Amino acid sequence: MTNPSYLPFNVPEIGDEEIAAVIETMRSGWLTTGARTAAFESDFQRYTGARFALALNSCTAALHLALVALGVGPGDEVITTPLTFCSTVHAIVHTGATPVLADVDENGNLDPQSVEARITPRTKALLPVHLAGLPCQMDELWQLAKRHRLLVVEDAAHAVGTHYRGHHLGAVGASESDAVAYSFYATKNLTTGEGGMVTTNREELFLRMKCLALHGINRDAWNRYSEKGTWFYQVLEVGFKYNLSDLQSAIGIQQLQKLERFTARRRDLASRYQRAFAAIPELECAPEAQEGRHAWHLYLLRLRLDQLRIGRDEVLAQLRERGIGISVHFIPVPLHPVYQELGLRNPCPKAIAMYERMFSLPLYPAMTEEQVDRVIGAVSEIVREHRVAVGVAAPAALANWQ
Ligand SMILES: *Cc1c(COP(=O)(O)O)cnc(C)c1O
Repeated sequence: MTNPSYLPFNVPEIGDEEIAAVIETMRSGWLTTGARTAAFESDFQRYTGARFALALNSCTAALHLALVALGVGPGDEVITTPLTFCSTVHAIVHTGATPVLADVDENGNLDPQSVEARITPRTKALLPVHLAGLPCQMDELWQLAKRHRLLVVEDAAHAVGTHYRGHHLGAVGASESDAVAYSFYATKNLTTGEGGMVTTNREELFLRMKCLALHGINRDAWNRYSEKGTWFYQVLEVGFKYNLSDLQSAIGIQQLQKLERFTARRRDLASRYQRAFAAIPELECAPEAQEGRHAWHLYLLRLRLDQLRIGRDEVLAQLRERGIGISVHFIPVPLHPVYQELGLRNPCPKAIAMYERMFSLPLYPAMTEEQVDRVIGAVSEIVREHRVAVGVAAPAALANWQ
C-alpha cells in the first residue's frame, strides 16, 4: 500500500492578513491588552449579537472566570457532559464546586432528561458543551434552569459560528444563558494560537469578569486617578491573569472576518463526507443540526460495530497506516484516572458506548475535495475489508450462541 503523503488531522487557516497584522502590532510598540483587543471584543460582540464580549487567554479561563464571577464555589454542584475536554471539568473543580456528569443524547450532547435526573438541592449551574459545533437542546436546558433556578454557562469551544434557532449562541433576546465561553486554540474554527472569549448579556457579570480577569484591579479607580496624572490604582479582589494580548487579538480580528467563509467551506466538505458515508451501511453519518446551524468544527463518524469484524481502534490504526490523521473526541471523563480518584463516577453508558464506536476525521477549510475523497476512499476500503459477511454471524454473536 503506497502512502502518498501524510494528511494532517488539522491545519490552521493563517493567511497573509494575519501575518501582516501581527507584524504591524509588533511595530506599534503595544503588545499586551490594548486597542486591538478592544476592537476584537467589539467585532466579536457584534458578530454574535451578545451584549458584552471579553477577550481572554483561553476558553478554560473563560469557563473558570464565568463560574467564579457567578458565585459558583464550594458546596455547589455543576452538571456537565462526559464527552468533553478535561478543562471543562477542571474549570468546575478549580472553583471548589463538584462536577456532576449527566449522560448524552443521540448527538453526543447533554441529554436534558439525564440532566434533570442528576439535579439535587446543591445543583447551582449547568455547563453544556456543543460537541463538534452542533447546538445542544438549549430550550430544554433553559427550561430546567428556570424551574430549578440554575445558572447556565455554555462551553462553545467548538461552536463559534454555531446558530441555535436562527441566532448565534449567547445572542441578546435569543439566549437565556448567563455566559458563553469560546476557544481560539490552534485547532479551533477561529484561532489566535491560544485565546478565548466570554460573552454575556448581564452587565454586572461582565464588569465583575473584566475586573477578575486582570488581577482584580479596579480599572475605574485606575482611570479616575490616572486622569489626575498619578500612578494610583486599587486591587479589589484576588483575581486572575486571564487577559488576551494585542498580538493575539490582531490575529483574531482577521480570522473573524474570514469566519463565515471558513464555516461555509467546512459545511461543504462535511456534506461530501455525509453523502459518501450514507451509502455505507456499516457507518453512521455525523448528526445534522435540527435547530440551527452546525459549525462543523469536527466530523464525527460512527461505526456500527455489530456489522464489522474490527473495532474503532483497529480502524484508526489502519487509517494511520494509510497516512490519514485522525483523532477521538473525547475519551469520556469517567475513564480518566484523576476523576476516578475524585469519585466522579456518575454512570454515562450512552457516552461510553458512543465513544467506543466514534472518531474524528480531518475537516478544515484548507482541505481539498481530493483530500476528502482520499479519506472517504480509505474509510470505505477498511470497512469493505472487515465487514461481517452476509449470513455469517458476527464474532460477538457467535460467542454468545456458543
Ligand atoms: C478546546 C476545548 C476547551 C479548551 O479551550 P482552551 O482555549 O484550550 O482553553 C474547552 N472545552 C472544549 C470542549 C474544547 O474542545
